[in-house]
Amino acid sequence: KEPGQHKAIVVSAMSKVTDALIELVHLASSRQDSYLEKLETLKQRHLDTIDRLLSGASTSASVSANINVVANTSTSALTLAKDLKSKVMADFEDIKEILRGLWLVQSASMPATELVSGYGEIWSAQFLNAYLNSLGQSSTWLDARQVLVVEPGETSVVVDWESSQKKMNQWLQEHSHLQRIVITGFIASTKDGIPTTLKRNGSDFSASIFGALLDSEHITIWTDVDGVLSADPRLVPEAVVLEDMSYSEATELAYFGAKVVHPSTMAPAIQRQIPIW
Ligand code: ASP
Ligand code: MG
Repeated sequence: KEPGQHKAIVVSAMSKVTDALIELVHLASSRQDSYLEKLETLKQRHLDTIDRLLSGASTSASVSANINVVANTSTSALTLAKDLKSKVMADFEDIKEILRGLWLVQSASMPATELVSGYGEIWSAQFLNAYLNSLGQSSTWLDARQVLVVEPGETSVVVDWESSQKKMNQWLQEHSHLQRIVITGFIASTKDGIPTTLKRNGSDFSASIFGALLDSEHITIWTDVDGVLSADPRLVPEAVVLEDMSYSEATELAYFGAKVVHPSTMAPAIQRQIPIW
């Protein structure tokens, strides 16, 4: 929604994190002990990110503040960092136990793979939320598995709109005072409450689903290009960013291979006529 009103931010995992988590599952279940070292590296990367995010926040937020405020701000940023680190470390302990189980059974079940591969979003959503809190914004994070119910398929999922909407409304009633919600992309639950995912690159789809569930005025997708281009810029260097297009034009482009917006991503927006930026 417009600045000043409520804003929901749907986040993906940090770069390459989902790949790394899936690799851990493969390594452990095929008894390649290098998984332990890679797990440690991934943990360290997340802990370092917490340090960088939350030490920078306290200084930049208090540049023009008096000494008192500076002290307060940095304490709270430090507290946020400390809490977040212990949560992340606990998650890594859980993952280590799951991976040890996969190592023992020498196979990776679907639910175990889905659970492990979704941790990246659990971390990034909490990181961004803590950062917003450190800047003094009223914000919380939502683990999408609490709200979003889907029927998993092999390569895609079907959203259970009725129960997702019900859960979303319930959650909103308890959190209506908040200006910002940071929501995990990619992850969801089955109707039995088992963690699952929207399959690879599903975070844009999450954004559009939550755009619909929250009855948003618009959905903005932030990606590595400035918009939908008239052609693949690697093949056609003169390609330009298109000013605007209809849903059906975008669907057609996607059908012919444009990667910027996936057709299933647009469906919830089309259904409720929500513009996508
Ligand atoms: N992190 C997930 C993935 O890499 C979802 C996404 O990036 O959209 O597939
Ligand atoms: Mg990703």
